[in-house]
Amino acid sequence: MKLVMLGAPGAGKGTQANMIAEKYGIPHISTGDIFRANIKEGTDLGKEAKSYMDKGELVPDELTVRLLLDRVSKDDCKDGYVLDGFPRTIPQAEVLEKELEKNGDRIDKAVNVDVPDENIVNRMSGRRACLKCGATYHIVHIPPRKEGICDNCGSELVQRDDDKEETVKNRLKVYHEQTAPLIEFYSSRNVLETVDGTKPSEDVFANICSILG
Ligand code: AMP
Repeated sequence: MKLVMLGAPGAGKGTQANMIAEKYGIPHISTGDIFRANIKEGTDLGKEAKSYMDKGELVPDELTVRLLLDRVSKDDCKDGYVLDGFPRTIPQAEVLEKELEKNGDRIDKAVNVDVPDENIVNRMSGRRACLKCGATYHIVHIPPRKEGICDNCGSELVQRDDDKEETVKNRLKVYHEQTAPLIEFYSSRNVLETVDGTKPSEDVFANICSILG
C-alpha cells in the first residue's frame, strides 16, 4: 500500500502517518525528518535544507525529489510506504507518479487531513518535537507522559525553529500557494480521501482506518 498524506503544516498528518505505519507495517517516510536528521549530522544536504526551512520555505524540488526517490528505492519500501510531507508541489507529485509508472505502479490513496487555517497557528505554537526519533506532541492535545520528555526514546522535547509563529504564517502561505493544489491533483487521479483533522487524533485515525480497510 502506497500512501500520501496531505494537509497543512500542523494538521496532524505526521501523527497519523506514524500510526498508519505501525498498523500496516510499512515505513513512515517524512522528508522533513530526513532533512532534520541531516541538519543534526551537519551534512552538506542539511546545511542547504536548513537555509530554506528556517524561513518556512520549501527546499528546492530537485534536491527533495532526489532524496525521496533514493529513500523509496530501499528494500523496506517494496510492500509500500506512507509519505508524510512529500509531495509538496505539483512537480514533485509528477516525478513520483512517473517513477512509479515505470513499474506499472501508482499511489493507492492520498489522505487529506483537513484543518482550517485558524486552528493551525494555535496548534503549532503548542507543538513539541523530539529531534532524536522524530515523534511530535502537543502540550495540550497530545501531551507526553512526562512533561518535556519523549515517550518513545526519553530525549528532551523542543519547539522546532520552523514551528515559531512568524515561520508558521509563512509556511501556511507556502502551503496554500504550492501544496494545496495537490488536493486537486490526487482528486483527478480518483485516489483522494479527506478526513476531518479537527477531531481528536484517535477519531481521525479510526476514520482513516475505515477508509484504508
Ligand atoms: P515538515 O516536517 O514536513 O513540516 O517539513 C519541515 C520543512 O522541511 C518544510 O517547511 C520545508 O522547508 C522542508 N520540506 C519537507 N518536505 C519537503 C518537500 N517535500 N519539499 C520541499 N521542502 C520540504
